[in-house]
Amino acid sequence: MSKFLREQYQNLEPYTPGEQPKTDNLIKLNTNENPYGPGPRTKAAISGEQVSKLMLYPDPEASELVEAISQYYELEKEQVMVGNGSDEILAFSFMAFASEGAKVYFPDPSYGFYKVYADIYHSRANPVPLTEDLRINPDHYKNLDGTIIIANPNAPTGIALNLNDIEAILSSNRSNLVIIDEAYIDFGAKSCVPFLTKYDNLLVIQTFSKSRSLAGARVGFAMGGKEVISDLNRIKFSFNPYNLNRLSILAAAEAIRDEAYFQQTRQKIIRTREKFTEELKALGFTVLPSAANFVFARSGRLSGKDYFTGLRERNILVRYFGKEPISDFVRITIGREEDMEQLICATRELLGKGI
Ligand code: PMP
Repeated sequence: MSKFLREQYQNLEPYTPGEQPKTDNLIKLNTNENPYGPGPRTKAAISGEQVSKLMLYPDPEASELVEAISQYYELEKEQVMVGNGSDEILAFSFMAFASEGAKVYFPDPSYGFYKVYADIYHSRANPVPLTEDLRINPDHYKNLDGTIIIANPNAPTGIALNLNDIEAILSSNRSNLVIIDEAYIDFGAKSCVPFLTKYDNLLVIQTFSKSRSLAGARVGFAMGGKEVISDLNRIKFSFNPYNLNRLSILAAAEAIRDEAYFQQTRQKIIRTREKFTEELKALGFTVLPSAANFVFARSGRLSGKDYFTGLRERNILVRYFGKEPISDFVRITIGREEDMEQLICATRELLGKGI
């Protein structure tokens, strides 16, 4: 730490991303990426001619992408803004709506960045514990007095809220902004985007990192009322107008137009998740009901840490959080069928059941 760092940042605990290995010899099931690469149409959109335009700045409005998203969700384009990953949009949301002493409520455990952003933007963080069975209790979010952020499905549990519960939270918090982080929405839960016609206190955030196979391109988007979106754009244009680069704009716009590839890959992942869940259960695991592209699971016999370490030694990378109340659990991204088969073999070996 240098002598120049402001005091307020000296105790900041940065977000710890999952390991991003430098080699290709691992089965990587730790950061919820899509095992299927970008589709052929997306790849074609960023090749050749487009690469030769990289000396030019990108469109600060990312109009092509904003239009593609607004068409997909049948919204007006003033209801959509884009960011460098949904992480950046979450950061802009904290800056715009929840900084400097404002209260912010979010489930705990949930996505680790909520707390980190609350700290860096000096929000008053109010983590709301999950129930004993690791669910969000919607009653805990009624009639609050600050911004609310809920991941639906939640991470790392994968459990989704239903739309009635989300509507009850929206209608009892008319004067609070409710941010629903739908990073994993395409793997089984219902999006609350249709509520945008009814609730001006709703902001929905989604990403191209999971169901659209573009984690490396860093593209997220927000959908909301025109005024809330204009507030977010005020921050974006003050902070970093060129937040999306040329190639990411093109890749994401094509990815959202390619419905066939999206459906095909997302359905494969859902099918693999269901089969894998049954296999883990047959080995005695508790597996939370997942509407995401990962499962959160606990072996009755191996500790979370031993299971994580045993898999790591067999070149399989999953995510272990090592904190209460989830220290017995690991989070496993759904990869290709063959990845999950290898993981099941390694698990049998670790449980001493032979292959
Ligand atoms: N929200 C949740 C709940 C997540 O798990 C993630 C990804 N780890 C993000 C947001 C951020 O995704 P990205 O910045 O890649 O869009």
